[in-house]
Amino acid sequence: MDLGIAGRWALVCAASKGLGKGCAVALAGEGVNLVITARGAEALEATAAQIRAAHPGVEVRAVAGDITTPEGRSAALAACPQVDILVNNAGGPPPGDFRDWGRDEWLKAVEANMLTPIELMKATVDAMAGRGFGRVVNITSGAVKAPIDTLGLSNGARSGLTGFVAGLARQRRLAGANVTINNLLPGWFDTDRVKATTQATAAKTGQSIEAVLEKRLAGIPAHRLGTPAEFGAFCAFLCSAHASYLTGQNILLDGGGYPGTF
Ligand code: NAD
Repeated sequence: MDLGIAGRWALVCAASKGLGKGCAVALAGEGVNLVITARGAEALEATAAQIRAAHPGVEVRAVAGDITTPEGRSAALAACPQVDILVNNAGGPPPGDFRDWGRDEWLKAVEANMLTPIELMKATVDAMAGRGFGRVVNITSGAVKAPIDTLGLSNGARSGLTGFVAGLARQRRLAGANVTINNLLPGWFDTDRVKATTQATAAKTGQSIEAVLEKRLAGIPAHRLGTPAEFGAFCAFLCSAHASYLTGQNILLDGGGYPGTF
């Protein structure tokens, strides 16, 4: 299926690795030009080079910087001739117990996982509406739908974003101008972050990495981790010309892990 977005420009945040990279690669495969960001320049440049080699027809601009800062966001936006597609992403907050978190920890999580995507939408969606096409995909978490006790910072900050997006996506001046805003909720995907948390749990509990992973898989009917490529493919469809009637939704990609009927 031709997704009908070749030649458009996408800003994909936090895209040197993992889910962000999966989205960037899938969009490039559809002929979309990219601005990709990440904090570490080396990994980011390597990803940009890999995408350029695989898709010589698209332009890929790499902007190193912290997307959770005003400077990082300005640099990313300045590098993109026009943002037709915005994929919001950043590192997730650390796990822990809410009794140990102070105001600083909360502000950091809210800054990264709620206010940063809101600032980037504020900077882009009205211009998208003016051009009659826009797609925003916010990478959030399955924890928005089924909270994970140790990820309280993520549960809280991302739920704030989710509530805000539910209203924004339904503004007639956006939805009526072919601008869609949706949230993609990953369950467990095979990325560096999940490898690191699996290793940390194994070290903390004295279990083998295989045993920790098997326990995790036991809660996933598909009995495997998702891949960044399949996450990216779904994101690309949400950004496609065909997905214009889908907005304000929270879509779980979790191999059936969420046990509810709806
Ligand atoms: P990852 O660690 O594999 O990759 C994160 C990417 O984000 C890297 O490219 C890193 O350089 C970049 N990054 C992190 N903080 C940044 C910042 N402040 N500015 C710019 N770039 C930044 O992580 P992932 O597994 O791909 O996760 C992506 C997001 O999805 C995270 O917020 C994570 O909490 C969330 N999530 C992931 C899963 C999963 O199964 N992988 C599940 C639920 C939620």
